[in-house]
Amino acid sequence: MAHCIVAEAEAILDKEFSVLDKGFVRLVDYMGSDARIVQSARVSYGEGTKTYRQDQGLINYLLRNEHTSPFEQVSFTFHIKMPIFVARQWIRHRTAKVNEISGRYSIMAEEAYIPEKEHINLQSDDNKQARSDEMVSPEMQNKVIELLQKDQERSFETYKELLDLGIARELSRINLPLSLYTQWYWKIDLHNLFHFLKLRLDKHAQYEIRVYAEVMLEIIKNVCPMACEAFENHILYAKKFSKREVEAIKELLAGKPSPLEGREQAIFEEKLR
Ligand SMILES: Cc1cc2nc3c(=O)[nH]c(=O)nc-3n(C[C@H](O)[C@H](O)[C@H](O)COP(=O)(O)OP(=O)(O)OC[C@H]3O[C@@H](n4cnc5c(N)ncnc54)[C@H](O)[C@@H]3O)c2cc1C
Repeated sequence: MAHCIVAEAEAILDKEFSVLDKGFVRLVDYMGSDARIVQSARVSYGEGTKTYRQDQGLINYLLRNEHTSPFEQVSFTFHIKMPIFVARQWIRHRTAKVNEISGRYSIMAEEAYIPEKEHINLQSDDNKQARSDEMVSPEMQNKVIELLQKDQERSFETYKELLDLGIARELSRINLPLSLYTQWYWKIDLHNLFHFLKLRLDKHAQYEIRVYAEVMLEIIKNVCPMACEAFENHILYAKKFSKREVEAIKELLAGKPSPLEGREQAIFEEKLR
């Protein structure tokens, strides 16, 4: 089988899926599908796709056993628009090919992110890198939005003033906020996309990048639904246990109490929830 065309994927190609207040994800192109994964895995036997159940079984087997290279045979090009602070986290995923809009070349659009009221939270007490789950008062929500908007407007005024003075675009932009929207084309193979999704769908990832990951998983389900199902089963919702935690599970199965204590026991319980 040469070129993979998947009807469900063709139907959503080029469609903008909204994320945050002004962002989006758009699938520009895809190469391969579930069929390509099984086809490339079976190449050593000279066999192609078989029945639906056999293909599904093979894809499950491959992911469960971390035989990941057939998943690298499927790739995607996305067009993504996201705030710069999200892009800074995103760019740490080094296995993608990226081409970003240039603020040296283009005049940046006056588009910055303002969080929705229900996503404005105080600093978490127990996690130095996260927000608390508690909602803040409506007065506080309004105050935060007002402060953010005021700052964004002020930095855009400076930007426009510098441009009007004829200052180079590459210099005029340097005080623009991290909330400014940027755009890029992002090309990645399925194995590395699963790695990105595992990390960025995790509840410890920042909400503003997690929502992009959620949309992207839904998009790629149209291209390779079997692989996505296997990913959810063996990677996304699977749990990793330490040696001591495995010993604790054995004790629990034998009807004995867990030998773990304190923070170690708390982490263990959190994993079992
Ligand atoms: C919740 C969360 C919090 C984070 N907090 C911080 C933070 O506070 N500060 C911070 O700096 N970062 C932070 N990060 C970023 C994190 O440390 C990683 O840089 C990021 O998640 C990318 O992971 P990766 O390197 O596995 O991914 P990729 O770059 O996509 O790489 C995928 C895999 O390829 C291999 N690989 C790729 N490039 C190389 C290479 N050059 N050498 C060797 N192996 C390579 C590795 O096995 C790697 O796991 C955070 C990430 C998350 C998800």
